[in-house]
Amino acid sequence: MADPKRVLLAKPRGYCAGVDRAVVTVEKALELYGAPVYVRKEIVHNRHVVDTLAAKGAVFVEENAEVPPGSVVVFSAHGVAPEVHDQAAERGLKAIDATCPLVTKVHKEARRYAEDDYDILLIGHEGHEEVVGTAGEAPEHIQLVDGPDAVDGVKIRDPEKVVWLSQTTLSVDETMETVDRLKKRLPMLQSPPSDDICYATQNRQQVVKDIAAECDVMLVVGSKNSSNSVRLVEVAVQHGARSGHLIDFAHEIQEDWLDGAATVGLSSGASVPDNLVQDVLSHLAQRGFTSVEEFEPVTEKITFQLPRELVTDLRAAG
Ligand code: SF4
Repeated sequence: MADPKRVLLAKPRGYCAGVDRAVVTVEKALELYGAPVYVRKEIVHNRHVVDTLAAKGAVFVEENAEVPPGSVVVFSAHGVAPEVHDQAAERGLKAIDATCPLVTKVHKEARRYAEDDYDILLIGHEGHEEVVGTAGEAPEHIQLVDGPDAVDGVKIRDPEKVVWLSQTTLSVDETMETVDRLKKRLPMLQSPPSDDICYATQNRQQVVKDIAAECDVMLVVGSKNSSNSVRLVEVAVQHGARSGHLIDFAHEIQEDWLDGAATVGLSSGASVPDNLVQDVLSHLAQRGFTSVEEFEPVTEKITFQLPRELVTDLRAAG
């Protein structure tokens, strides 16, 4: 009898500590203050999560100017520039900052190097909310470097006072390629004091790399505006998966993707709840992929406390 078609299920996958904290922040804020709770930008880059919170009473806006004075506004996990805090205070908003602590760490690094008058080369994707927020910490000192091809356009004042920082959700390999090219131009370039690409991004990419060569198809559950999810598909194909696809939901899987496939890899971005992955497993099982092997080379145990301003109000409410 032929072997059953199999699924290689990546772990760690899905929710990271920063996303979990941001989603729980909105849920607790809704319980504590009542609807509506306004959320500036998508709290995390996942359609399902945003729709679920909206159904509970969260109102997603693009800017503070859309929030009625005196209301509660939550800032997303991707972080905001200091001016966004200032605007909220001027408007009399109660702001709860759900910025992931690992993004806050990069903001602090940017402030410190700017205070020391460094040129800061921020490797990241132009227009991504995290990059906009980090750059807003010191706009006069920060230049965006959007990948290796952007290196030639970098302009600096003093080649001995330049440091690179990065967005937290980039491809590890592509970032190091950018850094190598920067170092060829700027031998004195300093590195961040610790990894800016976060543990969750690195772990999800590593496990996908480990299984990619065995996969005929790699499916990644995640939204198109989720940087870390998009990177997972790229990493899978670069490391040997014959094809890779990003899907928000199981029903988006096209039948021809599975034609002739014996092994399907499955992972999910850091903003994806696991019920969406379970839906994909059911979908695949109905098509003969009944053997599921979970591959977990690393165990994640990181958790983050809720934002201080929310904890204070929760305690006061008893
Ligand atoms: Fe934080 Fe990383 Fe998760 Fe982003 S992906 S929220 S930086 S832990």
